Amino acid sequence: MKSENAPTVVGFIGLGRMGLPMVENLMKAGFAVQGFDQSEAARADVAAAGAIVCASAAEAGRGADVVITMLPNGAIVRDVLLGEAGLAAAMSPESIVIDMSSSAPTDTTLLAEKLEPLGLQLIDAPVSGGRKKAIEGTLTIMVGGDSAVINKILPVLDAMSATIFRTGKIGSGHAMKAINNYVSGAGMVAAMEGVILGQTFGLDPEVIVDVLNVSTGRNNTTEVKMKQFVLNSDFGSGFALGLMAKDIGIANDLAAALDLKMGSVAETSARWIAAQEALGPDADHTEMYRFLADS
Ligand code: NAD
Repeated sequence: MKSENAPTVVGFIGLGRMGLPMVENLMKAGFAVQGFDQSEAARADVAAAGAIVCASAAEAGRGADVVITMLPNGAIVRDVLLGEAGLAAAMSPESIVIDMSSSAPTDTTLLAEKLEPLGLQLIDAPVSGGRKKAIEGTLTIMVGGDSAVINKILPVLDAMSATIFRTGKIGSGHAMKAINNYVSGAGMVAAMEGVILGQTFGLDPEVIVDVLNVSTGRNNTTEVKMKQFVLNSDFGSGFALGLMAKDIGIANDLAAALDLKMGSVAETSARWIAAQEALGPDADHTEMYRFLADS
């Protein structure tokens, strides 16, 4: 990383719901950020926030000490780095790529192998906490890869997070993230079906949530989603249904790759894919309730 005087330059690719507030927190911590997104609207938002906006991913990578990707999935991360966008070729050898997207762990391992001959080191550092914690700078980060490289980038991660877990080898952060979202997505279906079941019987949905929240059935959905985004028909949590379906699909693929037969993982993945087909990938993930209520 740079000398004490020069600010660390962070290239940032993917300035969406999560990327924009993460960039804002990096700038608050004193990093020089040069960002790129394929969406003109996203580029305008990050320009308004005061970051340098680049015309391409390669331009955002040129001269950067560290490049962060916060993109929809690992296939896009690989394309941006190694495909026509030419990000990896534009980066200086010895610089570090941090993939903070929720990517598939097996793809991450392969990507690290492809970047190594170019002198680039890859770290996977996906996050949990959603847009709210991205704005607060209190994300949880699950970081995998070479520990000496992770030590170098800790100040960058610290600027966006409250908690950092070192999960082990490259890809382990991405595996952990997929596991978290499987458990979260399965819990959401359970909570929503519980509410629909009770309501059909004649219970008041608000009462159902109140009882669950002081009982053993409580979970993240009952505590911070049912009243806040679902029962009031707000459906504006800021996490797309298609991204949730992708993450649970990654957990399902991982189980298959490890030769594990896991009924709940497979069933939960199938339900989220069916909801995505019915509502479209851009629906908010809390709209799963509408899908389940109509099924
Ligand atoms: P988003 O769709 O809001 O943002 C993704 C951005 O990537 C968009 O602005 C899009 O234009 C840009 N993009 C796509 N392809 C590109 C390309 N080839 N080159 C340049 N830019 C490109 O998504 P998000 O909610 O910010 O999620 C980003 C990642 O973070 C995903 O992997 C998601 O699973 C993960 N994540 C999201 C949340 C959440 O609550 N939203 C929480 C944790 C993790």
